[in-house]
Amino acid sequence: LRTSLRTKRDIVFYDEDAAEQVREERIIQELRHAITEETLEAYYQVKVDLQTMRSEKVEALARWTHPELGMISPGEFIPAAERAGLIVPLTEYMLHRVCRQLLEWDQSSVPVREAALNLSPVHFQAVGANKRIQDIVSGYGLDPGRIELEITETAMMRNLETAVAQMEDLRAFGFRLALDDFGTGLSSLTYLQQLPVHTLKIDRSFISRLTRSPEDQAIVKLMIDFAATTGLHVVCEGIESREELLALKLMGCQDGQGFLFQRPVPASEITIRYDLDLTS
Ligand code: C2E
Ligand code: MG
Ligand code: MG
Ligand code: MG
Repeated sequence: LRTSLRTKRDIVFYDEDAAEQVREERIIQELRHAITEETLEAYYQVKVDLQTMRSEKVEALARWTHPELGMISPGEFIPAAERAGLIVPLTEYMLHRVCRQLLEWDQSSVPVREAALNLSPVHFQAVGANKRIQDIVSGYGLDPGRIELEITETAMMRNLETAVAQMEDLRAFGFRLALDDFGTGLSSLTYLQQLPVHTLKIDRSFISRLTRSPEDQAIVKLMIDFAATTGLHVVCEGIESREELLALKLMGCQDGQGFLFQRPVPASEITIRYDLDLTS
């Protein structure tokens, strides 16, 4: 009996793996098309200056609706793209989108000064990929200082030497650089001084615990103070409530991002000014 049960369970596991693999292969095939046919979309989420409550900066986030499977989250298709060698074309596609959008905003006098793009660490392993993203921006005649490249802390730590060298190259070209999901990795604050970044994006997990946990509040305050001392810019991700916003404002956080202000939306829907009553 025991043997047959185990066999049955193994078969179930095998089937789940196989099903997952089939789904991933499908996703990769269709994603390739979505890139060449330009049906992959760029949504934008605002970063709000907590002093002025204005947003002159945005982050581009890839959005994809599969013809049959429906909306697929970047949490699923980005790792699939990384495994399938599709991340470089995807990033270049998104960068073209972002450059065109910035120029369009300039034309229509929408005051968006800066756009951020998420950069996969897999990108750093592709020969010539760094140079190509520089060429794309030059091709549009855009100041690279208007584009911030966000790299997650954990990704960066995994292959530190390569990452630092490539980031120094991108920084020398003029891009701004941000450490995304900061606080989730293992880097210590002293160590941070050696990284060539302009901005720290404090991870959403700290913000969601902020008003309930004095420990998290202390950690966030420490990160903000450290950033101020070393001249780093700070953005807090995932602000969902007024309480969180108020607490972060008092701690001296410069920029905020989160559903409280606006979810990621198509370019035409972004809101520039926020009137949030912080007293209620
Ligand atoms: P990320 O760069 O840390 O982006 C922030 C994520 O948090 C986004 O999820 C955003 O929709 C979500 N978010 C923002 N504010 C709030 C909030 O107040 N509450 C909650 N619960 N969530 C909030 P999204 O768009 O699903 O993206 C997930 C991740 O996928 C991104 O994390 C980024 O690492 C990756 N990603 C998305 N687009 C791209 C892309 O074009 N290229 C690359 N390489 N990665 C991308
Ligand atoms: Mg990001
Ligand atoms: Mg993040
Ligand atoms: Mg993230």
